[in-house]
Amino acid sequence: MNHLSGRTALVTGASRGIGAAIAKRLAAEGADVAITYAKGADAAAKIVAEIEARGRKGLAIEADSADPQAVRRAVAQTVQELGRLDILVNNAGVFPYGPFEAMTLEEFDRTMAIHARAAFVAAQEASRHMSEGGRIISIGSNLAERVAHPGVTLYAMSKSALIGFTKGLARDLGPRGITVNLVQPGSTETDMNPSDGESSDEQRGLTALGHYGAASDVAAAVAYLASDGARQVTGASFLVDGGANA
Ligand code: NDP
Repeated sequence: MNHLSGRTALVTGASRGIGAAIAKRLAAEGADVAITYAKGADAAAKIVAEIEARGRKGLAIEADSADPQAVRRAVAQTVQELGRLDILVNNAGVFPYGPFEAMTLEEFDRTMAIHARAAFVAAQEASRHMSEGGRIISIGSNLAERVAHPGVTLYAMSKSALIGFTKGLARDLGPRGITVNLVQPGSTETDMNPSDGESSDEQRGLTALGHYGAASDVAAAVAYLASDGARQVTGASFLVDGGANA
């Protein structure tokens, strides 16, 4: 433990769910952690309190990932208030679900902005501040690789953008010793995907292990990719999906 001492992380969309678990895990490993949120100021303040309870500095920033200026400002505020930035985790996400024919252009633009543009903008801004050993980790989805049911075309499309982003950026930032990787969760118990929801039995049935993952399972993969032990891993995608895509 504490192998991230002296490092600073920014995790987007971390007032709840997977992002909150990642923020707490990175703090437990010794990092100071800034988080963003869109609406959940109270929930974000609680996560900051949990980061501080681990003896680290925490910072909550209101920043809608659909707004590129807000994303840029969040990176700048992290550097200004926590002094540096070593680890960026692009996690903020939404789940547009429903008939393909009914999806609106507004839903299309907002989803692509949150999942693809925000990751691009945050990485562009963050990489200016990163040095050798920097880490950019995005949270995609196993649905970017395999889609087993209808209703998720836009979601799968937006998450698959992160595969090309990760590979391209690994090449761009490799010469500076910064790694870029993608974690692709499957069914993970959160507000977005409760394990007692309408389709949860079907989702469980798709896995090899027969159960949902916990947010902490995704956080464990992120902690590994953020560590020195992963220094030779870049441009890679990691499924954390209980074998759903196996
Ligand atoms: P939740 O809905 O449980 O939490 C989403 C988090 O993102 C909240 O903290 C929310 O903050 C924040 N958020 C949402 N929209 C924005 C926005 N526009 N700007 C900034 N923050 C925002 O989702 P999960 O924890 O389940 O999902 C986290 C990531 O994991 C997402 O990218 C999702 O697509 C991905 N994922 C999840 C899976 C699952 O089964 N749960 C499976 C595969 C991938 P606030 O409430 O303050 O708006």
